Amino acid sequence: MTYTVTLIPGDGIGPEVAFAAKRVIDATGVPIEWEIVEAGGDVMYKYGTPLPEETIESIQRNRVALKGPITTPIGSGFRSVNVQLRQRLHLFANYRPAKSIPGVKTPFENVDLIVVRENTEGLYSGIEHVVVPGVVESLKIITREATERVARFAFEMARRDGRKKITAVHKANIMKLSDGLFLEVCRQVAREYPDIQYEEAIVDATAMRLVLNPHQFDVLLMENLYGDILSDLTAGLIGGLGLAPSGNIGEHYAVFEAVHGSAPDIAGQNVANPTALILSGVLMLRHLGEQEAADRVQRAVEQTIAEGIRTRDLGGTATTSEFTDAVIARVQA
Ligand code: ATP
Ligand code: MG
Repeated sequence: MTYTVTLIPGDGIGPEVAFAAKRVIDATGVPIEWEIVEAGGDVMYKYGTPLPEETIESIQRNRVALKGPITTPIGSGFRSVNVQLRQRLHLFANYRPAKSIPGVKTPFENVDLIVVRENTEGLYSGIEHVVVPGVVESLKIITREATERVARFAFEMARRDGRKKITAVHKANIMKLSDGLFLEVCRQVAREYPDIQYEEAIVDATAMRLVLNPHQFDVLLMENLYGDILSDLTAGLIGGLGLAPSGNIGEHYAVFEAVHGSAPDIAGQNVANPTALILSGVLMLRHLGEQEAADRVQRAVEQTIAEGIRTRDLGGTATTSEFTDAVIARVQA
């Protein structure tokens, strides 16, 4: 059987890293037919919108997408394309593993964390208004429904991947109602999973504890803004944005993308590190049930980096295409 997967190259370094990831995934031999569609700042002039309907329709048809970073032109009057995609496709859970890659020098070895972030509400609800000139309100929305489904996603994922512990991260001491509800629902869901240890931690203390000793955590579950910030922190723990993959998962659709943005400063130079998107492709292969191919790509990336073939951000001299070719050679070995 052949899978059909939507590929969105995106903006900036997007096309370079997206086609690198595509080449690596194709090298596994898993039969994938790619449907390439557009989104982002670069296609505004063509469609009058950075998120054309046919791009949404392609993902709805194929149910799975691999996506390069997308820029939302500032001042264009459009809301973030990334946020729109997550909301329109109900991709309620954002899943960001941070796993050390041997040979990449960082303060800690063997980091192996997963941040699960609620992806549709919280402080990113996008509901803001001017009350009177000089006073604005930005609403933080927490619902029982959205919290329950992201919490359930985290516990199911923990069970499936043999994870031991989930930490719900919050600020319920200050935001008693919103984060209070978030915790209440997490506790309820946790009771259904007695095999997974459950604990709670305040977000500011969690930030400190993560940089003192990341090994004390396993899966971290939190609302949108905390997840955005702390997952950049966990990406830093394993060596930076060039290495951090993610999956946006909903009931019907899944979109896999790197944590990093479009990095316009290095676009078009063949120097971007494609690892984050290649590893997002690994998450995609696992989602499709192609575990063996996923393991092979993961190992190939680790071997390539361990052997010293690295892009500039990791202190190496390999270009995007040289690094990608090296990974492909190890996938096929
Ligand atoms: P955007 O507005 O789309 O978020 P950005 O300028 O914020 O774009 P990011 O991708 O968020 O860019 O990353 C910040 C910086 O980190 C980039 O400017 C770039 O120098 C570096 N960087 C990010 N991703 C990569 C990568 N894959 N390879 C190498 N360097 C990267
Ligand atoms: Mg950015």
